[in-house]
Amino acid sequence: MNCKNIFMKIIKKKIKSKIIYQNKKVTAFEDIEPKSPIHILIVPNKIIKSTNKINKKNKHIIGTMTYVAIKIAKKLNFYKDGYRIVINCNKHGGQTIPHLHMHLLGGKILGNFC
Ligand code: 5GP
Repeated sequence: MNCKNIFMKIIKKKIKSKIIYQNKKVTAFEDIEPKSPIHILIVPNKIIKSTNKINKKNKHIIGTMTYVAIKIAKKLNFYKDGYRIVINCNKHGGQTIPHLHMHLLGGKILGNFC
């Protein structure tokens, strides 16, 4: 069992975290330092370091993560108001944890950043 990074420890329930959803492929949990009223991270249960490691074989995981994010937005009732989905990659993208993760942000009007 590989628990090398903090997200793996959360997935394997080795450390406490508020898990919102989990299935065989992905886990969703609350971000420890929320940047908006709702800030949930969706991660693959198997380590994929970043979007740079997405390939022909594992590309389905991005769709699964997105589908789970939308399901959570519906369940927590912020689907209609809207939300932001972000994936950071490596140093210039602001990625700090080397385990692919999708940020699901909502609960307020988020400023444009592009
Ligand atoms: P990144 O900057 O890599 O895209 O996002 C990493 C995110 O993980 C940050 O928003 C940070 O607050 C969150 N994070 C870091 N350590 C922990 C932790 O131990 N538990 C949880 N729930 N979130 C964490």
